[in-house]
Amino acid sequence: MSDAATAPIPAVHASRRKALVLFSGGQDSTACLAWALDRFAEVETLGFDYGQRHRVELDCRQTVRTQIAAQFPQWAPKLGEDHLLDLSLLGQISDTALTQERAIELQANGLPNTFVPGRNLLFLTFAATLAYRRGASVLVGGMCETDFSGYPDCRDNTLKALQVALSLGLDTPMTLDTPLMFLTKAQTWALTESLGGAAFNDLIIEHTHTCYLGERKTRHAWGWGCGHCPACELRAKGWNEFQLGKPAGPAVAP
Ligand code: ZN
Repeated sequence: MSDAATAPIPAVHASRRKALVLFSGGQDSTACLAWALDRFAEVETLGFDYGQRHRVELDCRQTVRTQIAAQFPQWAPKLGEDHLLDLSLLGQISDTALTQERAIELQANGLPNTFVPGRNLLFLTFAATLAYRRGASVLVGGMCETDFSGYPDCRDNTLKALQVALSLGLDTPMTLDTPLMFLTKAQTWALTESLGGAAFNDLIIEHTHTCYLGERKTRHAWGWGCGHCPACELRAKGWNEFQLGKPAGPAVAP
């Protein structure tokens, strides 16, 4: 017969060690997932289906999760539920190359036409609502100022302001962690290698997806993709710099 007095005491603050990772199936969000699995006791993942013109990334999400669970026993027990939210309404309120069959080009305002205005603000607000219900107090996202394409909702100050707004609006501390904010793409490859070794970078190369065009027929040293779109060029450049061992750029890890 068990003695209640000797039963294990539940971790009272366990929820404070629970994180929700915005996880698209791309390189950056997979890096964030590893970063979170390395730090938090429990990690759940969240993806958004918003009428992307290709579903390759969404398909990659499950493969990456399965591979992490199979190959990384130190992380597997921490990897919790996956969530996929239908945000198809974004397709109704945007007119961009990501959601319609248009070429990717720079607009007159200097932003690429892949830009969905305020997309990350919406994503993070939905994520915070879900995190609240799931007992998580940390959101982890792959937003990045260093190599970013000009998205103002990826900027550090934008996210700091949103962190305050969400924490006030939910009346509970909600931390927005953005471990890639000041890293170059080469430094992101170095980060994932430091977290999971060469095996984890191999997983990223083989199973994550970045290409804007959804191309998965051509395998490069850095992974699958068309090799010509801005996302492929950025990923290839980062990989090459990482391989050369001389990360370029002004970034300093936070
Ligand atoms: Zn591409």
